[in-house]
Amino acid sequence: MAVQRTFSIIKPDATKRNLTGKVNAMIEDAGLRIVGQRRVHLSEAQAKRFYEVHAERPFYGDLVNFMTSGPVVVQVLEGENAIAAYRDVMGATNPSEAKPGTIRAAFAESIDANTVHGSDAPETAAEEIAQFFTDDQIVG
Ligand code: GDP
Ligand code: MG
Repeated sequence: MAVQRTFSIIKPDATKRNLTGKVNAMIEDAGLRIVGQRRVHLSEAQAKRFYEVHAERPFYGDLVNFMTSGPVVVQVLEGENAIAAYRDVMGATNPSEAKPGTIRAAFAESIDANTVHGSDAPETAAEEIAQFFTDDQIVG
């Protein structure tokens, strides 16, 4: 498997509790390199666009409210098989189903306040990275 890039968000529940460093340590311990990173407070328009795929789901409004409730850290992660590797260390969407040792098992508060986002496929990774980073803001 070749070196890949994936897009990550450290969500407002984590920045609120000052957990950025602890989440980053778990990312790095999983063998992923943080090659782009910025702290940003998402606008409603940015959050709506980012989660557009979920626009018809009943939790969309709550999700957009949560993602704009405080600062987030947007990141580009690089490594072997990075998309799946990050999904593994993130753990299941619902923290009650997340395996011990994963970021969500360690820190998530609920299914919406679940600490991190990670891309689910190469196409979405490329599209999500492009929403927040220009090429010169990513240093491998
Ligand atoms: P992910 O890829 O593991 O983040 O999960 P999804 O892409 O399926 O969902 C995106 C985000 O929407 C999740 O990380 C949660 O924050 C939120 N979410 C997903 N399912 C639910 C749900 O059933 N209820 C609520 N309140 N939020 C949800
Ligand atoms: Mg997803």
